[in-house]
Amino acid sequence: MRNILLLEPDYKNKYPPLGLMKIATYHRMLGDKVKFYKGDMKQFVINSIVDELLLKLHAIDKTIFLNKKKSMLLEYIKTGKQHLLEELLPKSNFNPTIKTWLIYYKDYYREKKYVNKPKWDRAYITTLFTFHWKKTIETIMFSKNLVKDTKQIKIGGVLATVLSDEMEKETGISTHKGLLNKPEIFDNNNIIIDELPLDYSILDEINYKYPENNAYYGYMTRGCIRKCKFCAVWKIEPTFNQFISYFDKFKYIKENFGDKRNLLLLDNNVLASKKFPDIIDEIKKCGFTKNATFIEPNHLDIAIKNLKKGINDNAYISKSFEQIHYLLNKLNNRSQQDLYNLLDEYELLEKHSVTKQNLIKIYPFIKNTYEKYRNKISKRRNVDFNQGVDVRLINEENIKLLSEIPIKPLRIAFDSMKYKDIYIKAVTLAKKYDITHLSNYLLYNETDKPEELYQRLKINIMLCDSLKINIYSFPMKYHPINGGNYLDRNYLGKFWNRKFVRAVQTILNVTKGKVGVGKSFFLKAFGKNQKEFFKILYMPEPYILYRYFFEEKGHTDKWWEEFNSFNISDKRNVKKIIETNEFNHFSLNSKNETIMKFIKKYYKISRDINNPKSRFYKEKQAYDKAESQNLKNKIMKKVHSKSNSTNTKTCLAD
Ligand code: SF4
Repeated sequence: MRNILLLEPDYKNKYPPLGLMKIATYHRMLGDKVKFYKGDMKQFVINSIVDELLLKLHAIDKTIFLNKKKSMLLEYIKTGKQHLLEELLPKSNFNPTIKTWLIYYKDYYREKKYVNKPKWDRAYITTLFTFHWKKTIETIMFSKNLVKDTKQIKIGGVLATVLSDEMEKETGISTHKGLLNKPEIFDNNNIIIDELPLDYSILDEINYKYPENNAYYGYMTRGCIRKCKFCAVWKIEPTFNQFISYFDKFKYIKENFGDKRNLLLLDNNVLASKKFPDIIDEIKKCGFTKNATFIEPNHLDIAIKNLKKGINDNAYISKSFEQIHYLLNKLNNRSQQDLYNLLDEYELLEKHSVTKQNLIKIYPFIKNTYEKYRNKISKRRNVDFNQGVDVRLINEENIKLLSEIPIKPLRIAFDSMKYKDIYIKAVTLAKKYDITHLSNYLLYNETDKPEELYQRLKINIMLCDSLKINIYSFPMKYHPINGGNYLDRNYLGKFWNRKFVRAVQTILNVTKGKVGVGKSFFLKAFGKNQKEFFKILYMPEPYILYRYFFEEKGHTDKWWEEFNSFNISDKRNVKKIIETNEFNHFSLNSKNETIMKFIKKYYKISRDINNPKSRFYKEKQAYDKAESQNLKNKIMKKVHSKSNSTNTKTCLAD
C-alpha cells in the first residue's frame, strides 16, 4: 500500500480538479492510501505533524485527549511559543514524556526535520492557468520535501502541458503532457485513468469550497476539430473522439457519492460530434430531461455508509460532522438540547474530538430526526456545456435537440465581428426553441479593435431587448498561452493599448466581470455610442470608477473640455501619452507645458481620491454620505406609502 498525495495549488478556482479525482479512484482501486490537499503547504505539514503527535500522545496515556486543544497545538508547533507548551500539558502522570514529545515535534517542524523523513510515496500536482504560475511552481518545489523520491512527483494539467519545457526548467521535474488516456502511464497495469469515474469524496477533505460543486462533471466527446491559436485543447487532446458514454460513470457517482443537481459537461466542441443525438439521449437517460427537478440526497446516510465501508475516513468524518451540526441548528429547544447532550456524550461537539466509531454509534439514534429535517426542497436541474458551443456549427437540428434538455445557460462565444451574422442567427434560433438563458464569452485584445468589443456587447444588449432573452456577456482579455509572452500578463493586442485595456478592466470590475441584460446600465457603463465609449477609455481611471460623483460635480465635463481644447497635433500627443497609462511625471516626455499640466492631473486624481487629506477625497466622502441618506429616505418613503395604503385598505374594509 502506497501513500499517495494529491495536491492542487492554493489558488481560487471554480471547478474541482477532475484529473486528481480520477487519480484518487485509480489509487483506491490499487489499494493505496490517498490524501488530497489544497491550501498553504506549510500548514499541510503542520496538520500532518499534529495528527501524528495526537496519535502518539494518546498511545502514551489513553486518558488524555489533546484533540480538544488541537488549535492550540497547531499554533504551538507553528510558533513554538513557550506559554502554549505550559497550557497544553494535561493532568497526567506521563507529563515529562508528553512534554518531550511536544518539544520534539515542535522542533521537527520548526527545524524542518520533516524534510529528512518524507512519508509520501508519490505526489500528483494538478496545474491550471498561466497566471497561476507562481503558486504552481511554489507547490511543486515544496512537494520535493514531502516525497521519498522526487521522480515520484507527477505533474499534469493545462499549464503542465502548454508550458512543459518551461516548467521542467524551473522545477527540474518533467511533466505529463495531455490526457491520461493510455495504460501504463504511471504504473505497470492496464488501467486507463481517464476512463475512471470521479472520486467526489476528496472534495470533503479540504476546507476550500468550489463554487460549482453540486454537479456531475464529465465529457461526452474529447478534443476539437479546430486549431484556434489561443487555445490549448488541440495540444492536450489532439484526436477528436465523437462519443464517450457517461451513463456508467453517472450511475457509479450517484450510488457512491449521492445524486448531484446539475450536469456540467466540459466538452470542447460537442456540436462537432456526429453522434450529437446519442449524446442528448444519454443526457436524458441520466435524468436531465426538460424541466427535471432535483432533491438533495441524504448526505448523512451516504457519509455513514462510506465510513462503514472505510472509503476516505477523513472526508466522511468531516461530512458527517457538518451534517450533524446542520441538524443541531435546525432543531429547537428541547430536541436541540437532547441532541446537544448526545453529541456531548460522544464527544462530537468539537470537530477535533470526533471519531469515526462515535459517529457510527450515534447514527441509529439520530437517523430518523435527520431524515425528517433534512433539506427536501425541489430545485430545477441544469445542463451546462461549460466550454460553450461552436457558433459556426449551430443549426436548427442541433438547437432543437439542445432544447430537449434543461440547458442553462447556453454558452456561445462571440470572438470576432466577422461572426456577427451567424452569431445573431444562432441566438435567434435559440429563442425560437425557448432557450432564453445565454452566456457569451467575448475575446478582446487579440486581433480585434476596441470598437469591436463595444459593438459585440451592444449587439447582445439589443438581442436581449428585441428577443426578450437574457444574455450575460463575459469579455475575456486575450493572453497568449505560449511563445515569448506566455507569462506577460501585460500582453497587448495590435489595436489595443495599456490605457484601453485598463479602462475595460475598470468598467468590468464595477460589473464583477460580466455585462448583464440592462440596456440603460450598459449605455452608462460603456457609453451610448462608440464615440462615448472612446471618451470613457481616455478618462482618468477614478472618473470611470466613480462615474456619478465626477459627473455630478462637473469634473468630467471640465476634463472633456480641456481634452478637446488641444489642437490636432497636441491632441495626438496627449492621446499617445494617455495610451501608455503612465502618468507619473518621471515618465512624461512632452515639452509642452499645457500637455504636461493636463497629464499630471491623471496622476494627481488617482492619488488624491484615496488620500483622506485631499479635496477630492473629502468631496467624495460627503457625496457618498448624501447619496446613502437619499437612498434611505427613498426606502423609508416607499415603506411609509405602503403602510399608508395598507391602512387605507383596512379603513375601507371597515
Ligand atoms: S473551437 Fe474552441 S475548443 Fe476548438 S480549438 Fe477553437 S477555441 Fe479551442
